[in-house]
Amino acid sequence: MKDEGNHGRVKGKANGRATGGTSGRKHAKLHYCDIAQCEGICCSDGAFLAAGEEAMIHRVVRANPAHFAYLPKDYIVDGDWEGNTGRKTAVVSYKYRERPAHFADTRCCFAEADGKCGLQTLAVKEGVHKWKWKPKGCWLFPLGIGEDGKLEAPPRTRREDPNNIGKHYPGFSVFTPCGKHSDKGKVWWIALKEERAEALKYLAEP
Ligand code: SF4
Repeated sequence: MKDEGNHGRVKGKANGRATGGTSGRKHAKLHYCDIAQCEGICCSDGAFLAAGEEAMIHRVVRANPAHFAYLPKDYIVDGDWEGNTGRKTAVVSYKYRERPAHFADTRCCFAEADGKCGLQTLAVKEGVHKWKWKPKGCWLFPLGIGEDGKLEAPPRTRREDPNNIGKHYPGFSVFTPCGKHSDKGKVWWIALKEERAEALKYLAEP
C-alpha cells in the first residue's frame, strides 16, 4: 500500500493461501507505510512466485542488465515455507534498525539500497504500469486471494493472520507497518483502494 515501495508478502503461496475465510471478521484499519521508516520489511523473506512470473522476471532482468546489476547470480531460488514449496526471489543479508523478533535480518534481493523494489522502479522508469513486472503476492500485500479464488481482506488480529503458526512464528502481515491494524488507520478497502481495484480486475480475467 505504498506507492513507490515494495509490498513483499512472502509467506505461503503467492496465489492462494489457506485461511478460514474472512466473513464475520472486524475490518482491519491500516496506515500507509513509509519506506524510510519500515525499510521495506514486508520484503524481508522475498516473494513466492505465481505461475509465469519466474519466466517474466528472467526476461525483464535479461533485458535490463544495468538496472539489475546489483542482483546475485541466483536471484530466483527454490523456497519452502512450512511445507509450501515453490520458486521465490532470493534474499540477501540486511540488518534492520528494528524488526519483530521472529523476522530475519534478510531482504529480497530485488530491493534496492533504499528498500524500493527494482521491478517497480524499472516499470516507473519505462513508463509502464508500476506493477507490471512485480510478483502478484507483492503488490497485493496485505490482501490475499483465497483458495476459492476470492479476494481476502487483510487480517486484523494475530489469530486471523494465516501465517501465525504458533509462538515461534506468530504471524507475518500483522507485524508489518502496512499490514498492522490501527484504530487510527483507514479501513482496508480505502487504504488499499488501488490494490483492491487491480486485484478485482485480475480476478475478473478469463
Ligand atoms: S519482488 Fe520487489 S516487492 Fe516483492 S519482495 Fe522482492 S523487493 Fe519486495
